[in-house]
Amino acid sequence: MKLLRHGPAGQEKPGALDALGQARDLSLLIPDFTPEWMSPAKLQALAAIDLSRMPLVPEGTRLGAPVAGVRQFVAIGLNYRKHAEEAGLEIPKEPVVFTKAITCIAGPNDDVELPEGSQASDWEIELGFVIGTQARNVSVAQALSHVAGYCLANDISERDWQLKRNGQWSKGKSFDGFGPIGPWLVTRDELPDPQSIALELAVNGQTRQQSNTADMIFPVAEIVSYLSQFMTLLPGDLVITGTPAGVGLGAKPTPVFLRRGDVMTLDAGPLGTQRQRVV
Ligand code: ZN
Repeated sequence: MKLLRHGPAGQEKPGALDALGQARDLSLLIPDFTPEWMSPAKLQALAAIDLSRMPLVPEGTRLGAPVAGVRQFVAIGLNYRKHAEEAGLEIPKEPVVFTKAITCIAGPNDDVELPEGSQASDWEIELGFVIGTQARNVSVAQALSHVAGYCLANDISERDWQLKRNGQWSKGKSFDGFGPIGPWLVTRDELPDPQSIALELAVNGQTRQQSNTADMIFPVAEIVSYLSQFMTLLPGDLVITGTPAGVGLGAKPTPVFLRRGDVMTLDAGPLGTQRQRVV
């Protein structure tokens, strides 16, 4: 299934794409896609709904992030070799982990507001996933069974706050709107191999990032297992898996950062597309 949430920010209702790719409203049956709806039993119940009988969501309706009530938003850094190189950083021996504030989560096509005085806001296309069942000390072999599904994410990053203000990267990663997620959550049954997704991001029509999740240093299964060794992952938790080369910070001869009026377009094949205007 492709699960989505539609409506104004803060008032989203649950929905799903039907066989023809049309968004259907599920709010008559379900209040919202809160974390408990990410469990295998609930996802199975959702899959049994005859979507063709549900009301159509009017075209042009805003989409929100496809999961509600996220409690933890974890991100992996430097998970593609060429990106570590362009950032001038060592290729990690273990996953680099940081968090984004849950308040940065936004819809896939929402405008992105530049922080006050920002000179170094940057883009990062990433594969994201949502946890379906609690994961604590899980093996790599068992890891994917804890994943509800996959989604597209833009890990927007203010590089001055991230790299020049001391301490953790979270500072540059957590501004409101810096976490566009969606358009859909593709449930795991529809995407058994998360390591074969083409990712492409353009700014003002110019391709900046072009890669494939096959190039990730630590694949999804290893990430889930690794995180679960030192924290309990909860249903509904959102994890993003690192960005490939081509961010503005790595542009040669000089970095290129976002300016008011720029448009970012992201494409992740079966995970859908995003489009954000910088304001
Ligand atoms: Zn990132």
